[in-house]
Amino acid sequence: MSTPRRALITGITGQDGSYLAELLLEKGYEVHGLRRRSSTFNSSRIEHLYQDPHEPGTRLFLHYGEITDSARLIALLREIQPHEVYNLGGQSHVGSSFDEPEHTAETTAVGAVRLLEAVRLSGVDCRFYQASSSAMFGPDADVPQSEASPFRPRTPYGAAKLHAHWATVTYREGYGMFAVNGIAFNHESPRRGETYVTRKISRAVARIQAGLEDYLYLGNLDVTRDWGYAPEYVDAMWRMLQADQPCDYVIATGTSFSVRDFVVAAFDHAGLDWEKHVRCDERYIRPTRESLLIGDAGLVKRELGWEATVHTQELVKIMVDADIAAVGHEGEPWIDRPKVGG
Ligand code: NAP
Repeated sequence: MSTPRRALITGITGQDGSYLAELLLEKGYEVHGLRRRSSTFNSSRIEHLYQDPHEPGTRLFLHYGEITDSARLIALLREIQPHEVYNLGGQSHVGSSFDEPEHTAETTAVGAVRLLEAVRLSGVDCRFYQASSSAMFGPDADVPQSEASPFRPRTPYGAAKLHAHWATVTYREGYGMFAVNGIAFNHESPRRGETYVTRKISRAVARIQAGLEDYLYLGNLDVTRDWGYAPEYVDAMWRMLQADQPCDYVIATGTSFSVRDFVVAAFDHAGLDWEKHVRCDERYIRPTRESLLIGDAGLVKRELGWEATVHTQELVKIMVDADIAAVGHEGEPWIDRPKVGG
C-alpha cells in the first residue's frame, strides 16, 4: 500500500478547515490540524471526523499550537513532513479587526509570514496555500474584481491579508516555493461562525420562528457581497495545490447580493415578514466605506475547471434549513445535530 499524502491545516477547527479536512480525508490524505488550546471545546466542527490517534488506520491528527509560535510551527513541520500546507488560521472577522487591529496583524499577516518562514527554515518540501481574501480589494476596486485588479483595502483585516498575500508571492518568486493565494470571496455554510452576518441572519430566522427571540439587529443593509458555499471553496483550494504551476486565483460565484436581499430571502423562506423583526444597530456600521464585492472567477474556471454551483439564493435556504433543524442543539458537536446541508 502506498503512503498517503500528508496535509497540515492551520485553522482546522474553523468553517473552511473542517470542510477541507473532510475533503482531504475522503481523498485518502493523512490530515494534520493545528488547534488552539482553549478552556472550552473549540472542535465541534470536526468532532464527527475524530479518530482515536492510537487506532491503526487513523488519518486525522490534531496538534496543539498557535500561528504566533514560530518554534512550534517549525517543530511540527519537521515532525509531520507534510506534502501540502493550508494556512487558514488567524483572526478572520472584518468587524472585529477594527477592535483588534494589532491582534489581527499579528495572526493574519505575521502569522502567514511565520508559517512561510517555518516552511523555508525547516526545509520541508511542500506546497503552500494562503487564504487570501476579497477584503484586499477595498471600496475603490474595479467591478468585478479579478486577479489583475488593484488592491486598496480599507479594513485592518484587509490590510493584514494583503501583507500575507504579498509575502506568499515573495516566497514563491524569491525562494521558488510552490506557494499560492486563493483570493476567496465570502463563503458561508451552516458551519459559519455565529457572528458573521449570513449566519446571524439564518440563526435569528430560526430562533424567531421558534419563538425564542423577536428581533435581529444588523448594520448597513445595502452592503453587497459575492456569497458562495464553503464546501465548494475548499475544493478550489485543493485544486490550486494540484496545479502544474503555482498561480493565484480569485474564487467567487460572480454574483452579488445585498445584505437586504439575504435578509428578505431568509425570512421569506421561513414564512416570516422581515420588516417586523429587523432593526438597525449603529454599532454594526463600520467606520470606513464598504466595498461592492463581485468576483470574476473566469481564470480558475478556465485553468482548473472550478466553478461555483451554489449561489446566494440556494445558500440562504441551506443555511436557514440547517439553523431551523438545529434550534435547541446549539453547542453540540456536528455529529449529533440534525444533518441538513452539511
Ligand atoms: P473561521 O471559521 O473564523 O476559522 C478561523 C480558524 O483560525 C479557526 O480554526 C481558529 O481557531 C483559527 N485561529 C484563530 N487564531 C489563531 C491562532 N492565533 N493560531 C492558530 N489558529 C488560529 O474562518 P473561515 O471562514 O474558516 O476562514 C478560513 C480562512 O480563510 C481565514 O484565514 C479567513 O480569513 C480566510 N477567508 C475566509 C473567507 C470566508 O468568507 N469564509 C473569505 C476569504 C478568506 P479557533 O476555532 O480556536 O477560533
